[in-house]
Amino acid sequence: MEKEKTAAVVLAAGQGKRMQADRPKQYLMLKDRPILLYSLQAFEESEVDEIALVVGKGEEAYCRKEIVEKFELKKVSRIIPGGKERYLSVAAGLQALNTASMEKNGYVFIHDGARPFLTPELIHKLLEEVRRYKACIAGMPVKDTIKIADENKNVSSTPKRELVWQVQTPQVFSYSLIYNAYQKLLMGSQIQVTDDAMVLEQMTGYKIHLVEAYYQNIKITTPEDIAIAQAFLENYLK
Ligand code: C5P
Repeated sequence: MEKEKTAAVVLAAGQGKRMQADRPKQYLMLKDRPILLYSLQAFEESEVDEIALVVGKGEEAYCRKEIVEKFELKKVSRIIPGGKERYLSVAAGLQALNTASMEKNGYVFIHDGARPFLTPELIHKLLEEVRRYKACIAGMPVKDTIKIADENKNVSSTPKRELVWQVQTPQVFSYSLIYNAYQKLLMGSQIQVTDDAMVLEQMTGYKIHLVEAYYQNIKITTPEDIAIAQAFLENYLK
């Protein structure tokens, strides 16, 4: 059996317009470090062998100097430009990791660089689960009741709360499974996906396993998320 290989695609090619800041949100400082550095350091401390960092076109040199070299990240093996949409950035990251050993026995984590509170422990938990299930995503059961609405903002149904999960990243897959699903997606014309698991759902029907993470694993999207993240850092995540 070929030795197992694990890699991560860390996404930082978004413009983060909803943050209304002077630079992409992943480079904003959170306490003493840029947001993007937090999750990269979690992968550095984990079992993951290598990281493909996907950044905005033209930001490659900045990222290499100001993040990878400055903070001595050893596992970032490639820094590549992303695409216009998130799924195109993921596809670029998967392509950059395409080797025979990944195809044979590789697992790939796909993670939003805008989720700083990733821990090596969560990475470990997901890796154990993906060896069994081949497709696993981090998430948490919702706390609020969720309503499904119609186009007129009328409630059309109420799913059972115990069965509704809010999903996060990392999403981790057997490499060949997700690589082939993305290839299939790129060949089609109707592309409307909001997470990576959905690509598998739509392209293959493969069963995806939910892995309980923690509520602090938030994505920094709007200015109030920065305040929440600062509170987490000061009060819980010392
Ligand atoms: O925009 P949103 O917050 O949903 O983005 C989630 C993650 O995907 C972010 O880390 C962002 O940098 C990344 N992204 C990307 N390429 C895009 C859009 C988003 O790498 N075209």
